[in-house]
Amino acid sequence: MNGAESHSGGCQCGAVRYRIAGKLGYPHLCHCRMCQKAGGNFFMALAGTREETFEITRGAPRWFSSSDPCRRGFCERCGTPLSSRPSIPPMSA
Ligand SMILES: [Zn+2]
Repeated sequence: MNGAESHSGGCQCGAVRYRIAGKLGYPHLCHCRMCQKAGGNFFMALAGTREETFEITRGAPRWFSSSDPCRRGFCERCGTPLSSRPSIPPMSA
């Protein structure tokens, strides 16, 4: 082990696992309507990472377009919400 910070997680049934290298960015509770619906709750706990530091280590999530700018990954076996990502690449200045 090289001591570099990493985080791992996955769905409830274990079919999909992921790893994130490095620090998590902007941990927060999102109360937007789409996160409320995706989590079946009043909020969803989120933290950000860059695409190149996010790795699926087992299985593959299914994707649902919850709104024009956002796709959400989930386990097709157990339904656990796993990730969200922009459908449209962010604009660069
Ligand atoms: Zn699962």
